[in-house]
Amino acid sequence: MMGMRGGRLESTWREKLPPICPGCSYNLTGIESVRCPECGRAIVWSELRTNARTVYHAMRAVEDVNDLLNVGVYLGAAALVIVVLFYIIGYGVSLARVVGLFMALATIGTSVQAFRVRRFPEWATEWLPQQPNYLKAVALVIGALAIIALAVFLPAR
Ligand SMILES: [Zn+2]
Repeated sequence: MMGMRGGRLESTWREKLPPICPGCSYNLTGIESVRCPECGRAIVWSELRTNARTVYHAMRAVEDVNDLLNVGVYLGAAALVIVVLFYIIGYGVSLARVVGLFMALATIGTSVQAFRVRRFPEWATEWLPQQPNYLKAVALVIGALAIIALAVFLPAR
C-alpha cells in the first residue's frame, strides 16, 4: 500500500463524502501534508473517515425523515378531508371522526420522528444542504392536534 507514511491513508479514501477538515471545513482531498493547509490542524485520516461515515449516515437518516414528513402531510390532509367532508355530508360522521382521529395521531407519530435526527455539525453543512425539516414537523403536529380537536369537539348534527 502506498502513502502510509505519517498515517496518511488518503490514497485509499473510498468514502462517499470527501475528507473535510473538522477545524475549518477545508476539503482535504489530494492533500499530501500532515497538517491542514488552511488552518494548520493535524490531519488524522481515521478521524476524517469516521466523520465522513457518520455524516453520510446522518444524511440518509435526514432524507428518510424528510420523506416521512411528506407522507405526514398527505396523512394529515386526508384526516382533515375525512373529518370535514363527512361532517358536511352528514353521513357516517361518527366513523369518519374515529378514522380521522387515528389518522391525525398517525400524523403526529410520523412528524415527531424528525426530532430524533440531530442537525449536522457546522463543518458538514456545506456538503449536506438538507437538514431535518423541524418547522414542517412542528406545523404537522399543530395541524394534527387541530384535526383531533375538530374530530372530538365538532357538535353533533
Ligand atoms: Zn483546517
